[in-house]
Amino acid sequence: WTEGTLADAENSLRELAALAETAGSEVLDGIVQRRVKPDPGTYLGSGKALELRDIVMSTGADTVIVDTELAPSQRRGLEDIVKVKVVDRTTLILDIFAQHAKSREGKAQVELAQLEYLLPRLRGWGESMSRQAGGQVGGAGAGMGSRGPGETKIELDRRRIRTRMAKLRREIAAMKPARETKRANRRRNAVPSVAIAGYTNAGKSSLLNRLTDAGVLVENALFATLDPTVRKAQTPDGISYTLADTVGFVRSLPTQLVEAFRSTLEEVADADLILHVVDVSHPDPEGQIAAVRTVLAEVDARKIPEIIVLNKVDAADPFVVERLKQKEPRHAVVSTRTGQGIAELLEAISEAIPRPGVRLEALIPYNRGELINKLHNSDAEILSLEHEEGGT
Ligand code: GDP
Repeated sequence: WTEGTLADAENSLRELAALAETAGSEVLDGIVQRRVKPDPGTYLGSGKALELRDIVMSTGADTVIVDTELAPSQRRGLEDIVKVKVVDRTTLILDIFAQHAKSREGKAQVELAQLEYLLPRLRGWGESMSRQAGGQVGGAGAGMGSRGPGETKIELDRRRIRTRMAKLRREIAAMKPARETKRANRRRNAVPSVAIAGYTNAGKSSLLNRLTDAGVLVENALFATLDPTVRKAQTPDGISYTLADTVGFVRSLPTQLVEAFRSTLEEVADADLILHVVDVSHPDPEGQIAAVRTVLAEVDARKIPEIIVLNKVDAADPFVVERLKQKEPRHAVVSTRTGQGIAELLEAISEAIPRPGVRLEALIPYNRGELINKLHNSDAEILSLEHEEGGT
């Protein structure tokens, strides 16, 4: 059930399916329900829920994912009918963020978002509306006036959750200043890194796999310990770099998830190059590019070189592709499905990543201008030259 047209609902479901795949699920089937209002007991209404149960049984699915936020009572009502686990959209997105969060800060942000989502939902289990600590209205199942025996335990759980949330907030606040220094250190030691960013369903993981298939990827024991979304790759002329898939952008991200989303994008802010994947067969690719760039700016990643990867050309209107090529001078036109343009993209990556150069770690008693001239005349590429006054 979404507001808007059937086409909107189908687009949103397609995105949900892509999200589910990102989270490691295999999507078996989907149904769309048109209703004026969601059913308070089962969300779908009992007739549709029975239809869903048939689909679950015939496909052997073990989970149902609903494209909305469910009240706890709706989730349970639906689970009672379909007899498998029911997950809502926000829970799924939080799950993906949890998979992508690497740093302590990222993990803390995601846990905070998970608890924030959970807290008002505890109300569904028999609490009266009279006590309004958070000021937020609970799910549809809340406030049914059934002060049951579970009340004390819920109060206790809730207090524990609040304490934990306060602790996480303090930790997050304390971690902020260290982030910049850490990033600088990481960059100094790291091999060049390429991050794949873009909307969910743009083709990011297909691209990662394509670049793997292209034979440039060396997955060895050393990198087996790396995060599953990060792989080691090599340019055709043998320069190693890492290739990271990032968490995909989604439409209408619930506000309580925005911070968690940003902190899972840290790897983008650390990258030397961003492959910004765009689905050119989408109705509004420009809108998606702009939205992605807004967030990239917020995580301080707009100054990183970016290649716009115009993906799905096999399915796109050639006029749209042409228009985007004009607008985005630094582009690669590819189809991860047919393999078109992948070789050219690899060339472009190879040209864009920083080359290992001479690094001056020691302070050299040298005339600065003369030194720079010498370096410019050599083959070395100058990564940075820091001038320190009065060094030893
Ligand atoms: P991600 O969510 O950005 O990682 O996107 P995926 O790589 O999972 O791809 C999303 C959907 O787009 C999948 O159904 C892919 O099969 C499809 N897709 C990806 N690349 C192409 C392409 O070049 N052409 C077409 N027609 N479909 C593609």
